Amino acid sequence: MSLHGDYDAGNIFAKILRGEAPCFKAFEDEVALAFMDLFPVAKGHTLVIPKRAAARNFLELPDAEVGPYMQRVQRVAKGVARALEPDGVTIFQFNGAPAGQTVFHLHFHVVPRWEGEPMGQHGKTPMADKADLEALAAKISAAITAS
Ligand code: AMP
Repeated sequence: MSLHGDYDAGNIFAKILRGEAPCFKAFEDEVALAFMDLFPVAKGHTLVIPKRAAARNFLELPDAEVGPYMQRVQRVAKGVARALEPDGVTIFQFNGAPAGQTVFHLHFHVVPRWEGEPMGQHGKTPMADKADLEALAAKISAAITAS
C-alpha cells in the first residue's frame, strides 16, 4: 500500500483498539495505546498507536493530534527506558509499504538497545514468547504509571 489510499478499519491495530484482537498492553489513555510488538527486533520493542485518528501513517495524522500523540510516544519511551534500563533507545516509524510499513494504522516503534546487541531485522524476527511479552508489558506499564 502506497501513501495514497483509504484507511482500512479491518487492519490488526484497529482490531486491537476495538478489543477484537489481543495485545500485551503497556500504556493506554484517551490519546494513545502502547503494546508489545509480537515480533520484536529487541527485547522490550513497544508500539505506540493513536486512538482517535483513523490515520494510516504519520502524514495523515491531523495537526491537532500530532502534539498529544508525540507526547505519548515520548512518555512510553521514557517508561521503556526506566523499566528496562537500556543503553539506548531507537524510535522509528514507516510511511507506506515501499518505506517498510506493513500495518496501516499509524504507529511508532520504541526499541530499547543494549551495547553490543544488534537490532533484529524488521519483518524477519520470530514471534516472541507470550509470557515474556506479558512480563515486559507489566514492567513497562508500572514504570509509566509511577512517572
Ligand atoms: P510496520 O512494518 O512499521 O508497519 O510495523 C508493524 C509492526 O507490527 C511489526 O513490527 C510487527 O511485528 C508488528 N505486529 C504485527 N501484528 C501484530 C500484533 N497482532 N500484535 C503486535 N504487534 C504486531
